[in-house]
Amino acid sequence: MREDQHQHPETRALHFRIDNAQTRPVATPIYQNSAFSADSPYFYTRKSNPNSVELEGALALLEKARHVISTTTGMSALALVLQRLRPGDQLVVNKHIYGCSYKLFQRYAEHNQIRLTVLDLSTAAGRAELPAEVSMVILETPTNPFLKTVPIRMLADRLATKSPPACVVVDNTWATAIFQNPLELGAHISLASATKYISGHSDVMGGFIAVNDDALAESLRQTRFYTGAILDPHSAWLLRRSLHTFPLRMREHVRVTRLLAGYLATRTEVAHVYQPEIDGVQLRDYGGILFFQLRPDLIGRYAAFAGALGLFDTGTGMASVGSMVAQPWQGSHASLTTPEKEAMGLDRGLVRLCFGLEQPEDLMADLSQAFDALTVKN
Ligand code: PLP
Repeated sequence: MREDQHQHPETRALHFRIDNAQTRPVATPIYQNSAFSADSPYFYTRKSNPNSVELEGALALLEKARHVISTTTGMSALALVLQRLRPGDQLVVNKHIYGCSYKLFQRYAEHNQIRLTVLDLSTAAGRAELPAEVSMVILETPTNPFLKTVPIRMLADRLATKSPPACVVVDNTWATAIFQNPLELGAHISLASATKYISGHSDVMGGFIAVNDDALAESLRQTRFYTGAILDPHSAWLLRRSLHTFPLRMREHVRVTRLLAGYLATRTEVAHVYQPEIDGVQLRDYGGILFFQLRPDLIGRYAAFAGALGLFDTGTGMASVGSMVAQPWQGSHASLTTPEKEAMGLDRGLVRLCFGLEQPEDLMADLSQAFDALTVKN
């Protein structure tokens, strides 16, 4: 396939293919093997495999990265990155972050003599508290929960003046490469859970790390090889297949989410709808996950609301073709202690909605009957 640098990244990612010169399939098959002959460009599937290489090449185009390193899950991508820290290093993490990520940072810091500081990097006051010495900063933007914005460029510029400069790591799972490219904004590492929008079908797990620095990429690849954190060929193949419709699905998530955000704002049962700031520079667009706060007198009625919904699944997970409802208190942030949840601003009235690809009118009708059920007088 002839590559044209002027084509849109989405088009180039769609056509990106490993060298299948002998068999010339229109879609790359699954290379379900562990080892390769000595004269193969591949070596051993724990190091690389045609399916992971093809996925990584396509993802690199979308992330606008020189290198992508695929991993078994989003958590293993985070764990690989943490392994760059050394005892005594200072790790700063943003206050609003996925619950399991928070627990991983805490445990990793505790077991490895890493100094951990939690700051609200979405505010100038929080950024002013950045310690004098920082080795790594990890953040999500828009944040989970509340969809706050952490200004990547501003933070990266600020940290570049530190000596040695800190490594800025952005978890890009929610914005996705379709709407946000952290490396172009000065981040050193953009990583994501591919289990979410990239899979898009709630049927495969994966993660990846995108970087521009050649030495950093090589070091991460080595760590992945020695720890066995590489994505397996079948999952890589499934994710590569999902990647073909990923941009299209994201655009539909935007359309559905915009309509549903407007709808939620009309409901008297809803005290507040949290939406991200789409500035067109850092974040070009956004869809499918929103949070809303139940009216104070309805906070204890989450189970009744979720139970009345017909189109929203209550399982763990999100960013799929089917809509989902969750209460962060008992879901994404369940592993936090009550004081930790409260420090993050969580309460039982915060509800997360992930809009799938159902028709927006059907989702609205479903939400309407569930909201109505909350206020029916017995
Ligand atoms: N990062 C974010 C923002 C997430 O929401 C999640 C999971 O929900 C992860 C990382 C972890 O991804 P995985 O479940 O693929 O390990």
